[in-house]
Amino acid sequence: MRTFISFDEARQIVLQSAVRTGTETVSFDQALGRTLAQHIVSQDTVPPFDNSAMDGFAVRRADTAETPVRLEIAADIPAGIEFTGTIEGGQAARIMTGAPVPDGTDAVVPVEKTRMDGDTGVWIDETPRKSAHIRRAGEELIEGDLVLESGLVVTPPVIGVFATLGITKLMVSAAPRVAIISTGDELVAPHKKPGPGQIRNSNGPALAAQTLSAGGNPCRILHALDNPADIRRVISKAQDVDLIVFSGGVSMGEYDYVRTELDNMGARWEFWKVRQRPGKPLAFGYLNDIPVIGLPGNPVSSSICFEEYVRPLLAQMMGRANVIRPLEPALLTMDTPKVEALYTFARGVLAVSAGRPKLTVSITGNQASNRITSMVHADCILHLPEGLAEAPAGSHVMIERLEW
Ligand code: AMP
Ligand code: MG
Repeated sequence: MRTFISFDEARQIVLQSAVRTGTETVSFDQALGRTLAQHIVSQDTVPPFDNSAMDGFAVRRADTAETPVRLEIAADIPAGIEFTGTIEGGQAARIMTGAPVPDGTDAVVPVEKTRMDGDTGVWIDETPRKSAHIRRAGEELIEGDLVLESGLVVTPPVIGVFATLGITKLMVSAAPRVAIISTGDELVAPHKKPGPGQIRNSNGPALAAQTLSAGGNPCRILHALDNPADIRRVISKAQDVDLIVFSGGVSMGEYDYVRTELDNMGARWEFWKVRQRPGKPLAFGYLNDIPVIGLPGNPVSSSICFEEYVRPLLAQMMGRANVIRPLEPALLTMDTPKVEALYTFARGVLAVSAGRPKLTVSITGNQASNRITSMVHADCILHLPEGLAEAPAGSHVMIERLEW
């Protein structure tokens, strides 16, 4: 087992454990947030017919070589109809956005560039470009085009594309099944009043919500007391999952039994301890081939380690194209504590300044890892690398945006 490794190495080891989940077929309107597990090839032509991009008049350009010119309004073409006639020389058709462009015409003049002449005539003041304001059939997609690639996350516009193409059923990656095991004799369920020395279990519900927001299925939510027998009891209920997430019990304390008891059950540990803050005692390994990650119990450590390790792991399991969120530079507005020789994750709030660079970041007050409220207002995580000595106001830092 490796110990006290770097953040990059630790994350790589975690990501390498990913086994692709299976697939399932879902209705397109139930697919938001799921991961596409097939390529989508167009069976259709988009747009399906030449149509107008503006409300205006469809004309024959040859008629408008000299302007202004008066044309006879020969037809009225709203969206949604089939128009079979032909527009002859000296004529124009009143046309609405999305309506089929009639035969004989080769440009649309927007209504703003015309003047009515009674009810039946229209003045065209400018010669339109060829094909002006006409959206040609197939200019966006034709049959056989690769439209969406496997690994894409289904967003609202992706659902719009499915609808455009008439795709009502599609294959997505199954949500990884995740067991979340909170450990600690001091924990009581959120709806209970803590007795002396007790606190409410906040990591369990928060990790379940993080799992959901990452596309996972938090199918086992469990609590283990700090003794070997109870850890065993709870583990036995978490054998049908793709990932086991422990919170707490992985530090150096007398009652931190998670690693030792899993050892007794035959666990294979890849690493314990990472050169990072928060989250130094992070542990990762396998129990019966199921990846197991032990998050330190402090609420901020648990939350940050989920974002940095578990969220990307779940994305990898689902075959997502983008697994790790990109880092971007921002100007630090206040002195930020940096722990020497540890990769430090601070919780930040982004703002846009008028000057350059545009993005600025401040930290959310006290950064102690027990302060869950320091996460609440954060919309990003600052990444302060191991080798960075300090992070004073005015320096540039790399940030990762949070989208819960
Ligand atoms: P541990 O990692 O078990 O040593 O826990 C570190 C700190 O986090 C202790 O103060 C625990 O009480 C606290 N803690 C552990 N698990 C939870 C939890 N599920 N919810 C809230 N606090 C927790
Ligand atoms: Mg504990």
